[in-house]
Amino acid sequence: MPKLDKKAALSGKRYVPYASGFTPPTNRIQQAAIGNSENLAEFSPGSDSEFFSPIPQPTNIDDWLAQYCEEGQTYRQFCRECPWLSTRKWVYTKQKFIPKGNTILEKYPDGKIYLLPLGDFDSDHCVDFDHLREFSQMYLGIDVVSLPAVKLDVTNSSVSWIDDNSAVEATQTRRLSSRIKRQTLNARFNSKPKHYQIRVDEVLLKLKTKIPDDALCMIALTMSDLYGDDTDLFVAGMAAGKHRVAIFSFARYDPTLTFDIGDWYGIKQNLNEFACEDRKKIILQRSCKLLVHEIGHLLGIDHCVYYDCCMNGSGHLQEDFRQPIHLCPVDLHKLQTLVGFDVRDRYEKLLKFYEKHEMHEESKWVKLRLQYLAASK
Ligand SMILES: [Zn+2]
Ligand SMILES: [Zn+2]
Repeated sequence: MPKLDKKAALSGKRYVPYASGFTPPTNRIQQAAIGNSENLAEFSPGSDSEFFSPIPQPTNIDDWLAQYCEEGQTYRQFCRECPWLSTRKWVYTKQKFIPKGNTILEKYPDGKIYLLPLGDFDSDHCVDFDHLREFSQMYLGIDVVSLPAVKLDVTNSSVSWIDDNSAVEATQTRRLSSRIKRQTLNARFNSKPKHYQIRVDEVLLKLKTKIPDDALCMIALTMSDLYGDDTDLFVAGMAAGKHRVAIFSFARYDPTLTFDIGDWYGIKQNLNEFACEDRKKIILQRSCKLLVHEIGHLLGIDHCVYYDCCMNGSGHLQEDFRQPIHLCPVDLHKLQTLVGFDVRDRYEKLLKFYEKHEMHEESKWVKLRLQYLAASK
């Protein structure tokens, strides 16, 4: 069963709202969730919620916490449950394993995270794949590698996955055709307005067969719109956590698009509202955030209910866009224990990325956090 993710719930389904509502955690619960550490400052929320706002109460029935009863995952729970910290090897992985290692990379020294572009990423509004790779590598502290793109052949009535192994035998033209395999994917089409969506389950099955031996996980990314079953408006993605593969779409992250809440194909575009550069910046910020949230899940981090945080669940696009890119102290502590990076060093690298891409809000936050850490040495 693929694990449904936060973004997967961004569909038109009406769930029965979580009846008793969400109770925000008290300070004591937040502190207990962070767990103990020798590096007090690095995982300290600070005194006056300057860095980490409390998680907001749901105000809309479609908000994540109005729909789902999330129990939250404390730091200690994570350390107990995370399969990457277990002394037993992940059953489906074929790579070298050192049981006595403390971090994921000590246990899986060859381990990498793979990104697989699915279909075209070359039109002007798209995210630069290399930026996504660079960002997720800094954010997570694990090597992230881009795989060669899988081509999608899209016509008015079909979408095909093209496995092209011809590069290997490019000079042997006679064998070329036999090296290209095509498979028609489940998809749905609408002619007015012209739009299509790919069904995710079959793609997940294909991904399982393509994951490299040294992968910790593999995430396919696409600009094509996705759906899970016929009643969905769309899904932004889905993961098969056990098999360490996932697919996510950036199709709905373009700020020039507005979406119908009734029809999956109801999409309008207004190109006048955003300058090209601003549009790209917004798409980059949203895509980066989605990517690290999803990889966070594949690494064993559950949804956060303690602070406003990158690991919060979201029930709809507006809620998603509102959430911050940074990790709260609970989830930063989990990731740091899993990977073993230096917290300040990580922030320094992220700051350079944010500055380079003019992500002003993010730059400002990290700068202040670094100042706070320097002052509390
Ligand atoms: Zn999620
Ligand atoms: Zn959190």
